[in-house]
Amino acid sequence: MRIAVLYAALFAAVLATVVTIAGGGLARFGEASATRDMQANARVFDEIIDLRANQMRDAADVLARDFGFREAVATGDDATIGSALTSLKSRSRTDVAFVVTLEGELLASANTPIKSVESLWYRLDEGQDRGMIDVGGELSLAAAAPIKAPDVIGWLVLAQPLDEVELSRLSELAAIDIEARVASQASLDEALQSAPDNTVIERQSDERYLYHLSALPALEDELSPRLVLRHSLTTSLAQLSGLQWLLALLALGGIVLVVALSWRVAKSVTSPLQKLAEATRLIGDGRDVELKVESHDEIGHLAGSFNKMVSAIEERERQIVHVGLHDDLTGLPNRKLFVEQLNQSLARLRGDEQLMVVYADLDNFKVVNDTLGHPSGDALLRDVAANLCKALPEALIARLGGDEFAMLIDEIPDSESLASIGDRIQSCFTRTIELEGQQADCSASIGIAVAPTDGTDGTTLMKNADLALYRAKSQGKSTYHFFEPSLDEQARKRRQTELDLRTALREGHFELHYQPLYSLTQERLTGFEALIRWEHPERGRVSPVEFIPLAEETGLILPIGEWVIREACRQAAEWPKDVSIAVNISPKQFSYPGLANTIIQALSGSGLDASRLELEITESIFIADVEKTLSMLHSLRNLGVRIALDDFGTGYSSLSYLRSFPFDKVKIDRSFVEDLGQGGNAHAVVRAITTLADALGMDTLAEGVELNEQLEVLKREGCQNIQGYLFAKPMAASDVAELLDDGTRTLANKVA
Ligand code: C2E
Ligand code: MG
Ligand code: MG
Repeated sequence: MRIAVLYAALFAAVLATVVTIAGGGLARFGEASATRDMQANARVFDEIIDLRANQMRDAADVLARDFGFREAVATGDDATIGSALTSLKSRSRTDVAFVVTLEGELLASANTPIKSVESLWYRLDEGQDRGMIDVGGELSLAAAAPIKAPDVIGWLVLAQPLDEVELSRLSELAAIDIEARVASQASLDEALQSAPDNTVIERQSDERYLYHLSALPALEDELSPRLVLRHSLTTSLAQLSGLQWLLALLALGGIVLVVALSWRVAKSVTSPLQKLAEATRLIGDGRDVELKVESHDEIGHLAGSFNKMVSAIEERERQIVHVGLHDDLTGLPNRKLFVEQLNQSLARLRGDEQLMVVYADLDNFKVVNDTLGHPSGDALLRDVAANLCKALPEALIARLGGDEFAMLIDEIPDSESLASIGDRIQSCFTRTIELEGQQADCSASIGIAVAPTDGTDGTTLMKNADLALYRAKSQGKSTYHFFEPSLDEQARKRRQTELDLRTALREGHFELHYQPLYSLTQERLTGFEALIRWEHPERGRVSPVEFIPLAEETGLILPIGEWVIREACRQAAEWPKDVSIAVNISPKQFSYPGLANTIIQALSGSGLDASRLELEITESIFIADVEKTLSMLHSLRNLGVRIALDDFGTGYSSLSYLRSFPFDKVKIDRSFVEDLGQGGNAHAVVRAITTLADALGMDTLAEGVELNEQLEVLKREGCQNIQGYLFAKPMAASDVAELLDDGTRTLANKVA
């Protein structure tokens, strides 16, 4: 709109200038041509007057030569002269005719009012034959012919007043509108009087005039007649003003045209721009927009570029959304997308339809990560993801994080039992994968929850699948478990126990019991194993077998373990110097970097000699990075404490561990002791352990000795120490004091 107005204003200014210049030019042209015409007409007037004078003189000459007329003049026959003159007047269309005698008298014109006959006579006598004379106050053109008999006896003069009638007849011959009059110099306006002949002057009053003055010959003195031509410039230019109006009209038309055109052009520019602005606003509101490309000009290009930009933004948005909903490593949907899809599927669930939520956690993924490195761990996850997608095309598979996957199967065929689906999923994970040239066995623990039985909302189903997974893991891995309501109850209990453990820690509900360790070779009590006891205010005594794994899982084992170490050291410091104390260290405690520090503080705080402290660790610490474990063991050893391998023979039992690290003691697990005296190969195992330990310079101790038969076999197979109910049960600190006072005689008797 503004562009249109600007264009129009600009054009109007240009046009106004052109019209003004043209108008001025036109006026000047009009004046110049009027001036030219005036001068040309003045010459024509002069010639016509001259021609008329010639005619009159010729006519007068004919009569002047007539014999009879000459006689009449010579004789003064007025009657004859009069009738001759009358017929001459009518013949030559003149009003006045008379004769001037040589003596200066007028004949046959008694009533012809000539102003100054004397000066007329004088000029005739000088030979002038034409000029203006004053006849009765009227300026008249006169021509004279001499009358000779044979000498000049007088002059025949013909005269015709140059009155309005006569002059207007002349004016009609002119090309332009001219008023002509003849006036004596004296009768003219002052301005005109002083103007020279043959000139053009302009007079301005209301009207503008162009004047042309020229002198006429005179046959009388003091007459100085002049021909005055006048032309009205105002009138002639008024004719031109029509042209100017036309010009102005054309200009106005031009302006209207320009306004219309620039309006159209502006519209053709602004309306696409407005559309563009509107489209931009819509995009800002997050709406889908596509501009129509209507032309191939710059606007069209702009619309095209705009559309390209919009689709680029959409593509980027799509990517951002994809990144937000997918896992980077495997490209699988993430937890967020899984939850979304699960909720959608649940909303679609009808009648007796079922839906399965599966949680899977890779077994021993940590081992792969720790032993082969993170790149191998990543490769394993990618491989598992790809294999799942291929093997379970009907399932939505997501990675929840770490080594945890989730699957959603929402169309369960009637022909397939839930258990067979579980088997199928299980088998998808159970494979051997090659990583860095090594074969790695892959398996997973799986928990399954089924809607609507196990829950109708996503949160419940996922929680229940997780509980089932937890159960599968604790059942020994590489297995799947369906959710059961009891799992929920167990989970609740676990949560409660966790809370209670915290309270116990805070309020001192823990207590240490001590079980004597007896040396068969020295035949004396050499130390005690500290075993934690929890006196629960409502549940009574809770077994460590029940709460230690939970404390491990929740990390509470760290503060609990620290308390145990301090308490055990403090207690042992009160015992005789040859009595040591063994403390159990859980795997999580072992891998905690602050352990050594805790031990140093406990020792220095209690004043217990480091050599009297024994740490019991289990083989499970070797699952993780062996190198790291060994260096940790060495650094603990360097503190001066002894290290015993607890529960040897269970789990990852391998005699090679004994070779790779010089333990101070090996505690043979109770399960082997139990089997002793029942045939089987328990004897052989015990012997192998004692032989190897002996060779490596390690002490051996048999746990859980309850029977004399077992003791006999152990003695025979060369086991150096025993621990068990046969000798003594774990006991409170006060009982330990009593026992030590007693000099341990009672115990020695039991063993003997
Ligand atoms: P462990 O270290 O192998 O401890 C020996 C367990 O065997 C003790 O059970 C002990 O009471 C039991 N025992 C000893 N002699 C006999 C016997 O002749 N027959 C039978 N049936 N059992 C016998 P407890 O005290 O229930 O502890 C169980 C496990 O809990 C311990 O096994 C140890 O692994 C863990 N534990 C106990 N106290 C602590 C502790 O303070 N810290 C840590 N981390 N773990 C502890
Ligand atoms: Mg132990
Ligand atoms: Mg043990």
